[in-house]
Amino acid sequence: MAKTSVIEISKSAVISNINFIKRQLGTDTTMTSVVKANAYGHGIKEYIPLAELAGIEHFSVFSADEALDVCNVKRPETDLMVMGWMDNEQLAWAIENGIEFFVFETGKIQRILEVAPKIGKPALIHLEVETGMNRTGLNQKSLQSVVKTIKKNPGLFVIKGLCTHLAGAESIANHVRVQKQLARYKKICKWMNYQGLVPAKRHVASSAAAMTYPASRYDMVRAGILQYGYWPSAETFIQYISKKEEKQDPLRRVIGWKTRIMSIKKVKQGEFVSYGTSYIAHEDKVIAVIPVGYSHGYSRSLSNQGRVLIKGQRVLVIGLVNMNMLIADITKIPDVSIGEEVVLIGKQGESTITVASFGEFSDQLNYELLTRLPLNIPRIVVN
Ligand SMILES: *Cc1c(COP(=O)(O)O)cnc(C)c1O
Repeated sequence: MAKTSVIEISKSAVISNINFIKRQLGTDTTMTSVVKANAYGHGIKEYIPLAELAGIEHFSVFSADEALDVCNVKRPETDLMVMGWMDNEQLAWAIENGIEFFVFETGKIQRILEVAPKIGKPALIHLEVETGMNRTGLNQKSLQSVVKTIKKNPGLFVIKGLCTHLAGAESIANHVRVQKQLARYKKICKWMNYQGLVPAKRHVASSAAAMTYPASRYDMVRAGILQYGYWPSAETFIQYISKKEEKQDPLRRVIGWKTRIMSIKKVKQGEFVSYGTSYIAHEDKVIAVIPVGYSHGYSRSLSNQGRVLIKGQRVLVIGLVNMNMLIADITKIPDVSIGEEVVLIGKQGESTITVASFGEFSDQLNYELLTRLPLNIPRIVVN
């Protein structure tokens, strides 16, 4: 193993998760597979073909540079949508290559008026409307002006979508706000129809909304985290499972993250371990040094908190997580030697470490830890 760790991507888990999402959505709603942030750390190159194998025909990314990475691996006929950043320089490329993109500023429409005629192709746009998130999105006045321009220049635009984003469908605390957003969105859809501009797809829901608010599914769901085997929040999972007879998680984690022990030693009772004084050995200990640290994406907040698997047993991360190393307490595990496999995320024997099982610091830990997995850790596809 040349690198200090490897990430395994489970093909059967991807297929099973995507099938599960599709079953939830039924036949009237399609799914765009959200693969921003290097497919939530799973690796664009590895993830895209697996998702296509599972029947995905539409991908979404945040920015145009991510779109370029996806273009290099996706099938030519698979659709691609940019939900966020696109530089004016990248606009021509997007139009030329039939990349769909969100429009949330009137300035973008002006740019399209300049660029699209030169290319001789229409821009494939999704009008993103503001409904209460107060992030990106056209307000009422901007939408009116955009619609006016589009009507004047029908050949330059294809309205691929009308969309908005909800401000936290994964928590009941946001219920009132989300309901308001859905009501506003519905009104805007009506208004657009009245204008005679019927979008090809209306879309609102990310993973959480798709599971919790069926009315938010419309024509397409933008599913990210679910595909990778994680629930957007514990609440979303509980809400789902409470209505089911079978109390088993239908999702399978796609990622496994593995490394090996680089050094083993004994530490006497009363000694501190690693930098500083955050960990003291209350008895004689045996410790394993593992070549993964926060520079590899193993969060420093897991100091004295994280768990890893060695010989199928769950052991504690002790002391501070260093830049390149962490230390695990292997006192209770007999016959461990240097080079022994260590599972940081995933399954070993009968035990599993999920990202979420790193203590319930925050629901966001899934998203954050996954997307911080560095690009240079090799990803390998396993069954
Ligand atoms: C990231 C993102 C999603 C997907 O969110 P998940 O919670 O991972 O399903 C959907 N829509 C937009 C606009 C996003 O930025």
